[in-house]
Amino acid sequence: MRKDFFTPTWMIERIYQLTPEQLLKHNIKGVITDLDNTLIAWNNPDGTPELRAWLSTMKEAGIPVVILSNNNQKRVARVADELGVLYTADAKKPSRRGYKRALDKLGVAPEEAVIVGDQLMTDVFGGNRFGIRSILVMPLVETDMVWTLLNRRLEKILFKRMQNAHPELKWRNNIV
Ligand SMILES: [Mg+2]
Repeated sequence: MRKDFFTPTWMIERIYQLTPEQLLKHNIKGVITDLDNTLIAWNNPDGTPELRAWLSTMKEAGIPVVILSNNNQKRVARVADELGVLYTADAKKPSRRGYKRALDKLGVAPEEAVIVGDQLMTDVFGGNRFGIRSILVMPLVETDMVWTLLNRRLEKILFKRMQNAHPELKWRNNIV
């Protein structure tokens, strides 16, 4: 079977829909997550109560979470420290290096991790290159400052292509 680099393993609307039970069922012991438009909206850098509740649930279940972001050190550190999670900034996704650093921070093997993100060409592509399963989420807000117009167009084309090739992949609210 041809490896399809832009195809996520699952598609869910929001990261907070993931529960420890769902993750453990798929032998996922650590979560790598994108920052912008996955965890937080650009216009709300402190995150929502739902996000904070989700992070507490993961902590209680002993599932570590690490932010893997292409955004700069200063911005990512500010959010990660505020939320109390690990992070890797300036990740240059889809480069493999960032994923390696994130896995080291989680202390899990690639097959025991999942990458959650809103972009096929960075988050999902990088995960597939590294053999990490991936979850595509809906972007939290339509207009994201860090997205260039070109990126948005490319992402739309990739998404359409992916959906044509994989009509069985649908937006859901869990990964059971
Ligand atoms: Mg993003």
